[in-house]
Amino acid sequence: MKRKFLFAALACAGLAATSLSACDGGSGTGTSGAKQKFVTIGTGGVTGVYYPTGGAICRLVNKARDKHGVRCTVESTGGSVYNINAIRSGELDMGIVQSDWQFHAYKGTSKFSGAGPYNDLRAVFSVHPEAFTVVARRDANIATFADLKGKRVNIGDPGSGQRATMGELMKVMGWTNKEFSLASELKPAEQAQALCDNKVDAIVYVVGHPNGSIQEATTACDTVVVAVAGDAVDKLVQANPYYAKAVIPGGMYKGSPKDVPTFGVKATFVASNRTDAETIYQVVKAVFDNFADFKALHPAFAHLTPKSLVQEGNSAPLHEGAQRYFKEKGLM
Ligand code: GLU
Repeated sequence: MKRKFLFAALACAGLAATSLSACDGGSGTGTSGAKQKFVTIGTGGVTGVYYPTGGAICRLVNKARDKHGVRCTVESTGGSVYNINAIRSGELDMGIVQSDWQFHAYKGTSKFSGAGPYNDLRAVFSVHPEAFTVVARRDANIATFADLKGKRVNIGDPGSGQRATMGELMKVMGWTNKEFSLASELKPAEQAQALCDNKVDAIVYVVGHPNGSIQEATTACDTVVVAVAGDAVDKLVQANPYYAKAVIPGGMYKGSPKDVPTFGVKATFVASNRTDAETIYQVVKAVFDNFADFKALHPAFAHLTPKSLVQEGNSAPLHEGAQRYFKEKGLM
């Protein structure tokens, strides 16, 4: 809460150079006379894909803001779990979250069993695929996920999706944090440097490819992308509809010329049922009416189609505003 207000205050004082900033948290009247509605999208670390994805969505929304009055801002956050909790508490309007945590939040299972089912959670559309990604120092002799035993591993920020998904895989492996000589909780923006400074042997990130964090980790020092495969992964993928086998393409990153097998999820865009249908309709319209422009805004969007965004990765019900747009366009 504090951070958001501070950001807004700086923007209003003219100290933050951004066209995405908002100077009040509610409604007002813009220069065109249209009623203004401010919305904030919770994303992830600045070197990941969520942050530029939120930026891409807001950019398209704000282009037509004189017409519809919706002004969109992005916030860098700890990731999926933080975003879900912040939408639930009303601090954020929308957010990007992994499909596995959308599922668990809506049902009130796994990490969300304490909070109970989040009945007001709504899917808007899914975005890019994300791969469970492990990068290790070459001198750490880590060839597969099982070799992380006894090593110094960045298991991730407690609000992140990777930390939570790592927990699911560890459960199936029968592991706790005691399996590692160090289990650090660094943010994505800090992890590449920690790896290259030899503070950790490996980092874990659930993320779309390519991205800045893995690019940094594979170019700033000698590292390898590690295979995440075997019985535990097979079990996890078979038992859960939101997991699928995935591949990190060979040649995408320095030091890893061959395809690396792993598993993955989808990044999904979600909102609360309390965010009004007209606002969500305008956000969805801004992205889908300009789909080619949207796709061009990040290389991780290369294989997206309008149909895949509507049909894949969502488990919570579709938001009413999204349904309205998809029905109009024959996408559902
Ligand atoms: N999947 C990560 C998370 O949920 C974020 C990845 C990104 O920022 O692109 O925390």
